[in-house]
Amino acid sequence: MLKERGLRMTRQRRVILEELRATNQHPSADDLYGRVREKLPRISLGTVYRNLEILTELGEIQTIALAGNLKRFDGVARNHYHMRCLNCGNLVDAPLEVIDSLERALQEKTEFRVLGHHLEFTGICPACQARLDEKE
Ligand code: ZN
Ligand code: MN
Repeated sequence: MLKERGLRMTRQRRVILEELRATNQHPSADDLYGRVREKLPRISLGTVYRNLEILTELGEIQTIALAGNLKRFDGVARNHYHMRCLNCGNLVDAPLEVIDSLERALQEKTEFRVLGHHLEFTGICPACQARLDEKE
């Protein structure tokens, strides 16, 4: 029974992972729930959420958590930077290489053992700039 449940969980997890990897929109758990439900109609939001946590722990995906914002999920596990629109919440990959020298510089200046870093740029996306310009 436990094994059956484990297998079922694995299938759910695989579908969630596939759906997340099929988009570059960095969906919230709610967004992803809507997509996954088309393939697994009986899945609950709680199950989606729990599997997203497990997939993050397994290093398959990233959870993007910024204070005051809904958690977003990223099917690309390797480190990369993001840009967030403060107007519409749009979250996209930043076309920049990860700057490893930042970690070395901090390591040299502090006693902190640097194990990684995450970087998110905030601003106004092109679509929102156009809308805001129209209103003027
Ligand atoms: Zn925007
Ligand atoms: Mn990303």
